[in-house]
Amino acid sequence: MKKAKGGPVKPVRPSLFSIMSTLLVKNTELLVTMDGERREIRGGGLFARDGFIESVGPSDELPAEADETIDLDGHIVLPGLVNTHHHFYQTLTRAVPAAQEANLFNWLKTLYPIWARITPDDIHLSTKTALAELALSGCTTASDHLYLYPNGARLDDEISAALELGLRLHASRGSMSLGESDGGLPPDSVVETDAQILDESLRLIQTYHDPEPGAQIRIVLAPCSPFTVTPDLMRATASLAREYGVHLHTHLAETADEEAFCLEMFGRRPVALMEDLDWIGGDVWFAHSVHVSDDEIALYGRSGCGVAHCPSSNMRLASGIAPVMAMRRAGVSVGLGVDGSASNDGSHMLAEARQAMLLSRLDAGLRGASLSSGDAPPLMTARQALELGTLGGAAVLGRTDIGSLEPGKCADFIAVDLNRLEYAGAQEDPLAAVLFCAPVNVDLNVVGGRAIVRDGNLQTLELGKQIEAHNLAARRLLEQ
Ligand SMILES: [Zn+2]
Repeated sequence: MKKAKGGPVKPVRPSLFSIMSTLLVKNTELLVTMDGERREIRGGGLFARDGFIESVGPSDELPAEADETIDLDGHIVLPGLVNTHHHFYQTLTRAVPAAQEANLFNWLKTLYPIWARITPDDIHLSTKTALAELALSGCTTASDHLYLYPNGARLDDEISAALELGLRLHASRGSMSLGESDGGLPPDSVVETDAQILDESLRLIQTYHDPEPGAQIRIVLAPCSPFTVTPDLMRATASLAREYGVHLHTHLAETADEEAFCLEMFGRRPVALMEDLDWIGGDVWFAHSVHVSDDEIALYGRSGCGVAHCPSSNMRLASGIAPVMAMRRAGVSVGLGVDGSASNDGSHMLAEARQAMLLSRLDAGLRGASLSSGDAPPLMTARQALELGTLGGAAVLGRTDIGSLEPGKCADFIAVDLNRLEYAGAQEDPLAAVLFCAPVNVDLNVVGGRAIVRDGNLQTLELGKQIEAHNLAARRLLEQ
């Protein structure tokens, strides 16, 4: 692997956030800060300069003028939602008939041959579709896990699409090196060598990773899972990531099958395997972590390992229920992930927050909690579900500049008009309405002070043409 001499190279740091201007938001019905005091301000607003918040408070205490003023009378304003796990390319294979009733391993075996046909243009196209759906459902920062690179595809194809759309992206350079002939799950045609993976990882860090506050693009290193790469690659990836200060991500403890595989192949449960591989720490977050013991949860809490909770995907693939409330009690950072669109099959962030709240309550019931008894475990509240989607996601991604609305943080926020059919009769607690009532699309989505969605319409992509091109590409993949 070619190493840069003299430490990390200064990245190019591509970003659209170069607008130098002020933005005033005022007269909201309710502004939810998610700050340290969890202030919820009736009639609140915020003032931002050059993409960062300068002040938050009652509208009449904010500066009277700005380059742009948005009156949000009748709207609730929330911090932008953070998605911590996705596979954008899977929007091309949603609801594929042969994979509808499969568990994870069979689902993968059905879809791998289709994914092996994906081109660089497909990556670009599907990223735009996924980000459009995320933006319209309230997401301002997304992490994506791209782990197969057939036919010349590169992570650059995804990053360029995110720059067009205008969301923040934590682009995970995923990888698979353990093909079928070596005892792994994926076909040999979609795996790479360790040297190819590490060289590409380094190039991407040097080209794109921006460690500064307000970054639009960050790189993450992310071998797909313990059953698709070698232990050597896991160790080498962790070492490279720590040399350059980038985060580590992988799927872990998603299914009972995976646990059995790890015990048979490595003689370890998945979390113990991660300990062996130096994959435990505050710079690591795992997708799923459904099958974890109390001791393993305690280890996450002590070490700072984060979790991307993906309730819809876990239900879709019959994987199980992640013990999210126990993780929270143990001090584990937990964010939300819609997961790939072949196992959800949607990228709706508000729907995912609602799903997390509902599934957690079902879990409490299945654990024998009688709600009328005094010792029943507390049910996840709407505010806790929102916390997963905001502060939790920010913590999981290692960011202190997003996740809440307070001075010094990025001007990333969303607004929803409360005067709508879905919320009729729920005006007493607008925040709870957003989580309890049917999930809706947002009316405004602002990232770094720039409106990506305005009046419910995406500003950075023509949706009609996009959907047509996406459907053509999806059909081609299935018919080949
Ligand atoms: Zn996943």
